[in-house]
Amino acid sequence: MARRPPAAGNSKDSYRNKGRGERKSTEKESKKTTKVSASSGKKEGNAESRNKIQNQNKPQNKSEKQYKDGYSVKDLGNFQDENLKRDYKKNIPSQRVFYENDFIFWCRKCNVPLIGEKCNTCGEAGEKITLSQPADVRFAQGYDNELIQKHVVRLFSCNPFEGRIVLLNKIPGDDQSMEIIADGNVVGILRFDLKLLDFTFEPTIYGSKLFFNPPYSYDAAARIVKIKKAKTHLNGKNVSYDLIEDFPAGIKKGDPILIVSGALTGYGISHIDSEDYQKKQDESTAGSRVLKSTRSDEEIKAAQVLKVKNITSDNPIQFALSEKRPTMDEIVTANKEHIKALGKNALNTIKGAVNLKEHKGKPIFVSFSGGKDSLVVLDLAASALVHKPFTAVFLNTGIDYPETIAFARNYCNDRQIPFKEMDAGNDFWDTLREKDHPTKDSRWCCKVCKLNSSNRLADGKEHLSLDGKRRHESFMRSKIPTMDTNPNVEGQLNIFPIRDWRAIEVWLYIHWRQLPYNPLYDNGLERIGCWMCPAAFQAEYERMKEIHPELADKWETYLSKWAKRNGVSEKYVNHGFWRWNSLPPKMIKLAEELDIGIEKNGN
Ligand code: SF4
Ligand SMILES: [Zn+2]
Repeated sequence: MARRPPAAGNSKDSYRNKGRGERKSTEKESKKTTKVSASSGKKEGNAESRNKIQNQNKPQNKSEKQYKDGYSVKDLGNFQDENLKRDYKKNIPSQRVFYENDFIFWCRKCNVPLIGEKCNTCGEAGEKITLSQPADVRFAQGYDNELIQKHVVRLFSCNPFEGRIVLLNKIPGDDQSMEIIADGNVVGILRFDLKLLDFTFEPTIYGSKLFFNPPYSYDAAARIVKIKKAKTHLNGKNVSYDLIEDFPAGIKKGDPILIVSGALTGYGISHIDSEDYQKKQDESTAGSRVLKSTRSDEEIKAAQVLKVKNITSDNPIQFALSEKRPTMDEIVTANKEHIKALGKNALNTIKGAVNLKEHKGKPIFVSFSGGKDSLVVLDLAASALVHKPFTAVFLNTGIDYPETIAFARNYCNDRQIPFKEMDAGNDFWDTLREKDHPTKDSRWCCKVCKLNSSNRLADGKEHLSLDGKRRHESFMRSKIPTMDTNPNVEGQLNIFPIRDWRAIEVWLYIHWRQLPYNPLYDNGLERIGCWMCPAAFQAEYERMKEIHPELADKWETYLSKWAKRNGVSEKYVNHGFWRWNSLPPKMIKLAEELDIGIEKNGN
């Protein structure tokens, strides 16, 4: 967190420090926004303009096959979610919520991601990059890059993405799963495996082609499996032993591998260890010399060695990475006008809401969790509410990370922002003596640690609360309106000024304004919440154990007593089953695979 703190409202790029032309255009845009967002609360300018951009960018070529929502065959190629792809191909109405702004742009000239179509550095239009839903793409930072480095190097002995700006786009999966985007292309997927309790990396066809080019091909050669030229299509096929020409040492069952077959290159997954391959080869040689082989030739041939995931005739040379490695400052510059416009829209949402006649005189609070989204809202509030008093409210749950508490206090103290900390004290641990821990499907902690404090704050009196919730965060939050009363906090009207922003927009704003941020983001956490939160990914829980072993010990002491009381095994706790009251099908399947009993009290 070694970022320079901004002088509030004094930064070189602050709203009050614009050139004349700039002010004129953004004000024009924002007037339109204010009108819509403050009166109807239905559509805001940035969502509207993104829709417009999206429609403009849907393929116009009628011969290209179109799916619902105007997606093209090319777009579907970018979807990593197989179920989603299948639904789209069959034009099946999906149960999922769809976010209209599921894309960014990429300036090929400057090699930077863009949140708007035009690059503010070179003036050229960026190429549209369709993202898997919910498209809450962000920058890989700090520990994220270490994680990519560790897993890519383990497999391919080199990392083409090192030192590059990499984006991570969360995708559906059993636990934390992310598309890795480098140079504007999805190059791989990082998934947390609940069996291994570790991440695994799998390249995409684009990512795999990179390893066939120098200098990476020298290191990655030890992962290239050669198979005979096949007469049939190889994509999606399991390949048997007799088709293998070369299978290098050091490959483990389940590892992604690079594949060459004649002029085709691509990748697949190994079904066997290299040692097994060697054994089978010896068996086969013996089988051809000695009539009494332990296995028939047919059996040996039938043994499947690998599955080809994707292999094409495209020359890997076309997939070379760009020589340009932009810095974060250069990315901010390329996006400056778009960030300003987004900020201006959000400012107008805040101003429009607090200036409504019916809200006159109501106290204004900014809900400040110490996370990135509420940080942006707090900074926007400081710019929007120059003549109106407001208070930053931090709900200390008693189970927050120490870094979060320190950050929230220091940030407000350094900027002299009125700060109120509502402390739930020991309420979480006291309640835990009376009932079992909270779970994903029974979150009593929200009431005990947050809602009780919120209700004490205004004591039932009407008040406004600026909140950083965003639609892209989760499918649960996909329908939040611009303003809404909170049914759980008496008298509270929530305003969500950044509800349409994606994580990348939040981060670009933070970098543009040079705001310091919670150091946990550089330490592997994507989301800031309570450190033992059952709603978090198991991947985040595993990271918490590394960052704060003393907190993990405290929680695991509790869990191990709970497990004994309920007759479940240590494995049940270690693989994160404790996070549910009623297990979902994916966890029931996992329990079978791991041979874990899931009936509580030994039943
Ligand atoms: S962040 Fe998690 S643990 Fe904390 S109150 Fe919310 S659901 Fe409960
Ligand atoms: Zn450019």
